[in-house]
Amino acid sequence: MSKLKNFVAGSWLDSKTDEFEAVYNPATEEVLAEVPISTREELDEAVAKAEEAFKTWSRVDVIKRARIMFKFHELILEHKMELAQIITKENGKSIGEALGEVGRGLENVEFAASAPSMMMGDSLSAVGTDVEVTNYKYPVGVVGGIAPFNFPMMVPCWMFPMAIVCGNSFVLKPSEKTPMLASRLAELLAEAGLPDGVFNIVNGAKDVVNGLLENPAVKAISFVGSKGVGEYVYKTGTANLKRVQALTGAKNHTIVLKDANIDVTVKNVISAAFGSAGERCMACAVLAIEAAIYDDFMEALVKATKAIKIGNGLEKDVFLGPVIRKENQERTLAYIEKGIKEGATLRLDGREKKFDKGYFVAPTIFENVTPEMSLWTDEIFAPILSVVKIKNLQEGVELANSHTLANGACLFTNNASSIRYFRENIDAGMLGVNLGVPAPVAFFAFSGWKDSFYGDLHCNGKDSIEFYTHRKVVTARYPKEDI
Ligand code: NAD
Repeated sequence: MSKLKNFVAGSWLDSKTDEFEAVYNPATEEVLAEVPISTREELDEAVAKAEEAFKTWSRVDVIKRARIMFKFHELILEHKMELAQIITKENGKSIGEALGEVGRGLENVEFAASAPSMMMGDSLSAVGTDVEVTNYKYPVGVVGGIAPFNFPMMVPCWMFPMAIVCGNSFVLKPSEKTPMLASRLAELLAEAGLPDGVFNIVNGAKDVVNGLLENPAVKAISFVGSKGVGEYVYKTGTANLKRVQALTGAKNHTIVLKDANIDVTVKNVISAAFGSAGERCMACAVLAIEAAIYDDFMEALVKATKAIKIGNGLEKDVFLGPVIRKENQERTLAYIEKGIKEGATLRLDGREKKFDKGYFVAPTIFENVTPEMSLWTDEIFAPILSVVKIKNLQEGVELANSHTLANGACLFTNNASSIRYFRENIDAGMLGVNLGVPAPVAFFAFSGWKDSFYGDLHCNGKDSIEFYTHRKVVTARYPKEDI
């Protein structure tokens, strides 16, 4: 059984820990590798190396740093299928979705390659007699990245390409459930010419996270994961005087109005609710359908959902893979039980499909879900869709706004006034109009609201440049008598 290593200052190191966790293929239950639960000391050693590398890397011309991103981009393209296969094996999502994830990560690398223009400051030539002001951007130092299991490629790529192209060094703690992809990215970064110590990986769990949050050499923390851990990371990191961005949980609502195209909308909702087994922070968790089309829509939705192919994501045409671990499967089944007990109507029961192995849960649809039920309050992060009948758009918006999580929200309609009403009144940061998963392209901030995000500057877009840099604002006088 292969034991994963840590990647520090360009070397692959065996962890000194005696604690390891199995990395499973959730579709087959096969153990793919063992991941070390590294110690605090190992994290501190990696941070010290990253701090050392920062001294020279931060002074490398930004154009040269960007060229490494171009090369990294080329290598990702060359290894696209191999990377996607690693994702499918360790995460369970279909190979099509894994390829899509590689593509989204690539987009971040493309964006990072634009650092020479994005890092430009601004200036004013005359703010007083012979006085001008110029603003320069500088890297902040060592950045720590803490990633969730559901996007082993895309989420770390929200962090390290921009952080390192801005001149920072980086220590990544991948999810201990899906840690394999990051190791391959480290190899490709080294092949692209990234100097040793600029990008490091310390595998592990809580101790490594706490080390990143407490080590004074770590100046910024990018976290993506669940609400509870995100809140802890934000509070602890800021209490230790670091800048922190914490992208957390979600319970995304989709509103379907009576003038929506039913076939197109059903297709989008299925992809958003059940794609990646519902383990997406932009998944559609609650579907609010206008009463006038409710019955027709539900009939089409249930029929199309029953046709979904479930299985090992590496197999052809499989759409729905397993959830990540046995505990997640059991937790999902417990939510189905709870939903029934709480009085929701089980329209499609995922428990009816049996599987020989793997942590599968077939798509499940509940109707008559109300805001008191755990089906509505909790982020289930599984292929369970909760459906509500609404009388109009206003009711749908009010329902969505009453949730504390506010990552994304979608609207399906052909009416421009409804679209405007939705945009102006919904309290969520990423909106979709006539599409199901409104994850913005890398050039825009990934901008959850309320308890879906703690911090100020988000990942991606111009926010990411600001997050990974600080400024020097130079006010200079050039006396005329010098000429
Ligand atoms: P998680 O919070 O369990 O883990 C995230 C990271 O935190 C992991 O690296 C993990 O090792 C670490 N961690 C876990 N428990 C910890 C603890 N007690 N102390 C310190 N560190 C700890 O999340 P997950 O299950 O891996 O991922 C799913 C969650 O991530 C969902 O809630 C999902 O909505 C969220 N997510 C959010 C976004 C977003 O952009 N908002 C994107 C992807 C995933």
